[in-house]
Amino acid sequence: LVSRKKKPEDTIVDVKGVKIGDGSQVLIAGPCAVESYEQVAAVAEEAKKQGVRLLRGGAFKPRTSPYDFQGLGVEGLKILKRVADEYDMAVISEIVNPADIEIAIQYIDVIQIGARNMQNFELLKAAGAVNKPVLLKRGLAATLDEFVNAAEYIISQGNDQIILCERGIRTYETATRNTLDISAVPILKQETHLPVLVDVTHSTGRRDLLIPCAKAALAIGADGVMAEVHPDPAVALSDSAQQMDFDQFADFMNEIKPLIKVK
Ligand code: PEP
Ligand code: MN
Repeated sequence: LVSRKKKPEDTIVDVKGVKIGDGSQVLIAGPCAVESYEQVAAVAEEAKKQGVRLLRGGAFKPRTSPYDFQGLGVEGLKILKRVADEYDMAVISEIVNPADIEIAIQYIDVIQIGARNMQNFELLKAAGAVNKPVLLKRGLAATLDEFVNAAEYIISQGNDQIILCERGIRTYETATRNTLDISAVPILKQETHLPVLVDVTHSTGRRDLLIPCAKAALAIGADGVMAEVHPDPAVALSDSAQQMDFDQFADFMNEIKPLIKVK
């Protein structure tokens, strides 16, 4: 059902009036993890100043180590909702447990399914059974065919509001955290009718590569870019090495804004 052969027209996902996949390009910015109301509000204010209307932030964090910060859970979703209402933004947050979908959709505008859960089929089916956009990230070691099949799990349950997100894959290269597979963008655009985003933060794991990789994503035809922003990355509870502070975010926006297609 996600194949362009089945449906030649682009799917446009409407997130609180922000259209993803309509030929314009969007930016999703926000902290890696929701840490406090003050932290999320500070980022929202900065993002809004830059014209960003889509705010991200993880409340359930799938961390590699069980001893690392696991997120604030439902409390984090409530913080996101409060900030979204106050700043008139839409919020995107990762859900890791199918049982949390029903409660999560009361607070968030887009359900994110993270790389580690791309083949959590029960989670995919649960997200497919609700009327809420889903941002599906490519698995750490998933082929594009596996990625497309994961999206198929969602759409087969009835939910066609799916946004694909390339976030880098595991390769032998160690210079970056993951290897950004930029060619995935045109391949997914050709083979499916779904919007395709590029997460420059998790693909590179390097702050100094965010601008060039975002430029590449926009140039190759991605429907948007996701990047992480934190008021003080040095003390961030996750992804300290690659989140941008507000000055870096301003530089980032200055560099990429002229390249963003608007409609
Ligand atoms: C995230 O976006 O918060 C995240 C954990 O990313 P990924 O699932 O791509 O690793
Ligand atoms: Mn992160």
